[in-house]
Amino acid sequence: MTLSSQQSITLSLPDEAATVYLGGAIAHILPRPVVIYLEGDLGAGKTTLSRGLMQGLGHKGAVKSPTYTIVEPYQFASGPVFHFDLYRLGDPGELDFLGLADYLEAQAIVLFEWPSRGLGRLPAADLTVSLADDGDSGRVATLTAHTPMTLALLPHLRR
Ligand code: ADP
Ligand code: MG
Repeated sequence: MTLSSQQSITLSLPDEAATVYLGGAIAHILPRPVVIYLEGDLGAGKTTLSRGLMQGLGHKGAVKSPTYTIVEPYQFASGPVFHFDLYRLGDPGELDFLGLADYLEAQAIVLFEWPSRGLGRLPAADLTVSLADDGDSGRVATLTAHTPMTLALLPHLRR
């Protein structure tokens, strides 16, 4: 069997609810451990998708942007989620002081907003979600699977 190392699907997200829904849909089928990169400009919907994912896992409280804290941890019966936002990182070397390795536990879901700011210091992504304006008032999401495990998820997310 040959598996392309990069296979993508593109989904239309006409409103915020659609972004939250996609996060929840991912949460419901996501195996652990997994590393997800969330790409896209400021305001593209990366934190909104993360909120949908957390709510899909059963989180009831707020999901705040980790822009200032760099990382927000969440605990679930199934294991932790570590939600990173590297936007304010001065350079990737600062990640060494965060003890990044400690977050890559066996059963963790690790989300990275602005992975480009951590270049060379981050674990490889299993899945990249790239969000962009759709030219109207909504967004378009491109999901790229980098491993067989996440490749198997893509057909379930197609709507
Ligand atoms: P980011 O984390 O990428 O900077 P946010 O998740 O904070 O972006 O979202 C910025 C804004 O975009 C929020 O006001 C959110 O409601 C809105 N938004 C998210 N998804 C969509 C969508 N599919 N269509 C329109 N607006 C959206
Ligand atoms: Mg954000």
